[in-house]
Formats: sequence, structure tokens, C-alpha cells
Amino acid sequence: MSFLGGALAILAIVNFAFAQSSRPRRPDTPLANMPEPRLVDEERARAAGIRKLTGKYLVLYTNVKSSPEVDRLPKVFDQAVPQWAEYFGVGADKLRNWQVQGFLISARNREPFEALDLVPAGNEEFPNGISVGREFWLYSQPSDYYQRHLMLHEGTHVFMLSFLGGCGPGWYMEGTAELFGTHRYDERYKQLTLRTMPTSRGEVPMWGRVKLIRTFSDQLEQPLAAVLEIDNRRQLGDSQYAWCWAATKFLDSHPRYRARFRKLQNNVTAPDFNDRFRQAYRSHWNEMQAEWQAYIATLDYGYDFERMAIDFRRGQPLTKPVQVAIAADRGWQSSGVRLEAGRTYRIAATGRYEIARDGEPWPCEPGGVTIDYHDGRPLGMLLGAIDSTKKGATLANPIDIGLGTTITPAASGTLYLRVNDSPAKLDDNRGTLTATISPAVR
Ligand SMILES: [Zn+2]
Repeated sequence: MSFLGGALAILAIVNFAFAQSSRPRRPDTPLANMPEPRLVDEERARAAGIRKLTGKYLVLYTNVKSSPEVDRLPKVFDQAVPQWAEYFGVGADKLRNWQVQGFLISARNREPFEALDLVPAGNEEFPNGISVGREFWLYSQPSDYYQRHLMLHEGTHVFMLSFLGGCGPGWYMEGTAELFGTHRYDERYKQLTLRTMPTSRGEVPMWGRVKLIRTFSDQLEQPLAAVLEIDNRRQLGDSQYAWCWAATKFLDSHPRYRARFRKLQNNVTAPDFNDRFRQAYRSHWNEMQAEWQAYIATLDYGYDFERMAIDFRRGQPLTKPVQVAIAADRGWQSSGVRLEAGRTYRIAATGRYEIARDGEPWPCEPGGVTIDYHDGRPLGMLLGAIDSTKKGATLANPIDIGLGTTITPAASGTLYLRVNDSPAKLDDNRGTLTATISPAVR
């Protein structure tokens, strides 16, 4: 979606700025340098079966048959604008005369738009959506959700270009557009909410981002650093959009990382954006990588970022048996114990807590309940991992502990523990268990 759009739009701005340099300028905002949307001959458009739908911030031309969903798209767009403005710190005064021109083209019939020269010059073969300057184009989609998603995705590019002067490197540009494209629309109250975490597949038909990550992460661990290299000057595939979304969603939602992430929007025109990104997270870089791997290994609809956030408390070497309490309603928790590679430890667990399924609380012990499974293991079973990204029992690839086990870690690191449950279903669990970690007697 609009890989070329962004690049071309930036080029267009640059060229325009040069051409205009001898003229007096309006206050130095990116918007002042943006070319105006093309003029549409409305009479000819109407004659060719193209309707005009007008909102406050969007004028949408379309040859898609009238329906409540299509006809309200400008109103949906209007609801997105204050949400973009708040996130990007754009005051209401700046929005006053801002309007975008969009074209929603029936996937079956683009000819009327071609005949009237209402296609993006040089990018006529765009696959789904594209934006150039203050204009965007979309093809109609079989899913209402996904059609809005594409509009909001392109709208994010246009908004950022208009008020921030750029969209940042490929991963950030497409990631933020996917972050804002992913939304909830309440049919009953006609309310739009952007930057949501979808709670089920049925809520977001054709979106598929979670599925793509889950399919892919089984085969290959995608380091966060690899996502930063995604280059949208070439058309991206669906899985790359999914990675960009997963990264921005993680950074924008995580309680420890989100403030820094949101500040990065001030650097979207900086050529060294990625260096600034690395700099911003320098103090937590290794932890963030380990947490990223754990995140993509467990990503699911309704992922609870608050409860899954890991408090990386560094462990101390074990001199005598240590007892730790592990909450059933959180993700990975530090045991406070550092395990040494090659040494053998005994971990035993006791306690009774609640693991809920479909609102029904089930009593559970560290061995888990075998009437239900999550990720191939008994629900509620105690799991263990070392906070190393390298080998052995990593946070992304934990081991079973259950009621007790011995462990001889392949890498040294702090032992982390959690009970086995969906990252979307921690909030209805209750209680704690007690794990005892001791040097194994040989
Ligand atoms: Zn895009």
C-alpha cells in the first residue's frame, strides 16, 4: 500500500519546494508545500457513474454502488482525523482547511477513472491502495473491514506527510499506517477507534496479520533489527506489512517502550531515523530483543500487552534453595535466580490458583489442567525459560516445569516463570503458585 506513494509524494514536495523557492511562503509547515489535489470535472465524473461523497476532511469519488457502508466512509475518515491529530500532536487550528481527496475504485471497473485521468500518474498499476500528496486511491474490497483499513492506512500516510513532513523509513511508515489502519468500528454507535488490538479473526476479515506472524515465526525467528531494514521503496508483501504492524504495535503498546516510541514521530524526516531509534532504546536493547522474540512466539488476537510485559529483574546466583511466588494472571516473571550454564537445578512448584476458560474459573495446580490445552501444553502448567536469546529454553521457546523438573541450562541467565495460558486470557486468572529452586543433589 503506497510504497511508491510515500516516496513519490516526498519527491513531489521537494520539487515543489524548489520551484516555489522564490515565492513568498506561508508559515513553514509541510502542508504549505504540498501540491493541491487535482481538479475533478464533476459533471463528466457524474456522467461516467462516479459519485462524490463529501465529508469534512475527505472528498471521496467512487463508482462503487451506494450502500450505508460506502456512503459513510467520509464520516469514518472524519472520525479518524482527531485521533491522528492527538497522537501526532497536531492542533485543531492546523486542521481547519485540511482536506484530502480520495478515489474508491470498483475492483471490477477502473475504466471511468482512467478515462477522466483520475489515476495516480506513473503508479496506475498499484495493487490495493496508494497515496500521493493529499490524494489516495483504493480498490473496493470484499470485506468492509478491510476496505476501511486500507482507507485509514492511506489516510495515515497523507496525514503524516501533511503535518510531519514525512513518514520515516519503510518499516515505520508502513508500521504506523498499519497501526492506525487496524481499527474497530462500532456499527451500533457508529464509533471508530484506531490502533486497536483485534480480539478475534472474525472482527477483522482479510486482515490476517496475526496469522502471518504465527505461520512465519514457527519457521524463523525474525529479529527486530531485520524489521527495521524493511524497505518500502519496493512493493511489500503481506507478511512484511504484518511484521511492520507487529513491531509498531509492540513498541506503541508496551508500557516500558511506548513513550520513547511516540517521541520518535519527531524524527520522521531525519535520514538517520533508525540510528535514533536504536539510541532511544540503547538502555534496554537486549531485553527488548528477548521480549520481542517472546512476543512474536505467542502473538494472538487480544494479546494483553500490559500483563505480558516482562519486568526484567536480574537474578542472583543460587546459594541455597529459593522460593518465589508466581502470579497466574501475568506473563513471564523473574524468579530472581540466575542459573549457570551446565549446572543442574531442581525446580518444584506447589499451589492452587484459578485459570479461567470462557468465563468459567477452573481450579488449577502447576501441572496444569489436562482437559484443556494451550499451545500443545496443559492449560495452567508452569513453564520456565532463561532470558537468553541464544540457545536452550528461551522466552520464545520455554520448557515444561509442571509440578517439578530438573534443568541443566545450555546458557547462563535469569530464570523466568509463567503459567501456560493465552496472552489474551490472563485477566481472568486468579492467585499464585510457589516455585522452589534449588541446586540439584547429584
Ligand atoms: Zn502504505
